Amino acid sequence: PRDTLQDTLERLDGAPYARYRTLTGRPWPLRDGATATLRHGQADPFAPPSRWEVHCPRTPFAGLGLVSPVRRRALASFLARSARAARGPFRVDAGGQEVVQRSSCEVAADGSVVLRFAYPLPGPRRRIDGRSAAADLAGTLPDVVARHVLGVDLDTARAFCDAVEDADHLRSQLPGLGLVAFVADGAVLPRASGVDDRPLPGAVPFSSPPSLRVEVDLPHRGRTAGTGLPRGVTVLVGGGFHGKSTLLRALEAGVHDHVPGDGRELVVTDPGAVAVRAEDGRAVTRVDVGAFVSGLPGGVDPRDFSTADASGSTSQAAATLEALETGSRVLLLDEDTAATNLMVRDARMQELVAKASEPLNPFVDLVRSLADDHGVSTVLVVGSSGDYLDVADRVLLLESYRCSDVTGRAREVAARPTGRVAEAGTFPPVRGRVPDPRSVDTTARGRRRVSAVGTDTLRLGEQDVDVRAVRQFTDPGQVTGAGLALDHAVAAGHLDGQRSLAEVLDRLDVDLAGPTAQWTDGAPADVAVPRRHEVAAALNRLRTLRVLHLR
Ligand code: ADP
Ligand code: MG
Repeated sequence: PRDTLQDTLERLDGAPYARYRTLTGRPWPLRDGATATLRHGQADPFAPPSRWEVHCPRTPFAGLGLVSPVRRRALASFLARSARAARGPFRVDAGGQEVVQRSSCEVAADGSVVLRFAYPLPGPRRRIDGRSAAADLAGTLPDVVARHVLGVDLDTARAFCDAVEDADHLRSQLPGLGLVAFVADGAVLPRASGVDDRPLPGAVPFSSPPSLRVEVDLPHRGRTAGTGLPRGVTVLVGGGFHGKSTLLRALEAGVHDHVPGDGRELVVTDPGAVAVRAEDGRAVTRVDVGAFVSGLPGGVDPRDFSTADASGSTSQAAATLEALETGSRVLLLDEDTAATNLMVRDARMQELVAKASEPLNPFVDLVRSLADDHGVSTVLVVGSSGDYLDVADRVLLLESYRCSDVTGRAREVAARPTGRVAEAGTFPPVRGRVPDPRSVDTTARGRRRVSAVGTDTLRLGEQDVDVRAVRQFTDPGQVTGAGLALDHAVAAGHLDGQRSLAEVLDRLDVDLAGPTAQWTDGAPADVAVPRRHEVAAALNRLRTLRVLHLR
């Protein structure tokens, strides 16, 4: 008998379901040199679907400029989206609006493609349905690969890669231009809804205030105008519902590239920008929050602060220090999700409550030192506190979704004294922490357990890590990716009880830049590559985390 996938499946027809697993590990020829390999068979029809990997060594993509890793990432995202759109029983994870590297599709420099997907192997009454499986895997699958992967329109694919390359290029230019973000004229910032990340139809497109308008040269699009947000302290003001948070959220998302048509293709932010927010109830492990907190009640040392149940203000203080520890040089804050008592303490309250009995140093007194002494820029939405006008390098007003530069007027307003006195001097050096690898257990009952529940929860070993407040996770695949990155950091010895978290992340970054198979260690999961900041954010919220010492 011939040894094809078709024949083999037909021979297995009616056999016990578990024998599907005999297909595992062999590359079954499809067409055009492509092969399909079963990586993980499912134990029974109700278990998570089987995982397959298709290798296409010969593809028509060589002319798309694939020496560039960015273009490879873009093409992979394009192909995954195309394969996802194909009707059929195969489930291809292509993520959301962001173009991030994923395990579902990877493109090599020689143009070869790997596609990975899930497929529920058919098995009524726990018997192999060989005929249906053969129809899917030997009939439909080669067609999907031929038409929706190898047969994609090359001009559309090229345009997709060009758009992503422009965004990536722009982001890499930001430091040299002295900018923390760029928002192109014509960008569409608002989203269709809180649960739909596509652009809001009929939105008012972004247009630059003349004072901040810059022009950049992009490799494909050429000269492009938009707002360049300089380093320093930028305050966004304006009445409620006038679009402040929408702009800030677009900046948060601007650390990632977006698909053509998203509206935020050319809204790009410093790649290390971190959204910081209050998150009461979270765990904090040995963070030096001394910059924000002095003399806690009960003799707790704020320079080595741990809690299983942080308050709004201490959680925000910890999140700020954790962001700095990962190397972030741009903080993004929104009054909607910030702890008021950590943001401001106005003149009257200073008069009524003596500084001696207020342990918190408000952010308004630290944000300048962060910029001046640490090179850390802040973009923050504060529609409700004029005290920020004193410390802002620039003030942008949003009015009916239109952005204008009101720095001059803000200076005049700020020139009239309020009687407020600054309550903190310089922001102290940020201390590193050395995590204990034994406190990061990714196994449950002896088996690795890493998965995501939406973007809310990372399941890591026996622990459920609440990551709802980590806003820059793109999709569940990236949450899983953060968990597997932590698993890898321990397994590969990066997290060794000697290195600081920042050093661990440096090592991890090298691995995360390579093929996903090298750090996901065969996990049967849809994975997207996370940033170091989100990996750290997940670790920081792990309730079993122990830190051996501070540096
Ligand atoms: P703020 O933070 O100033 O209170 P938001 O950013 O939350 O305001 O925006 C309020 C509403 O306006 C949201 O529903 C948002 O989708 C919508 N919106 C924001 N920007 C635009 C825009 N450019 N065009 C149309 N609607 C917008
Ligand atoms: Mg708001």
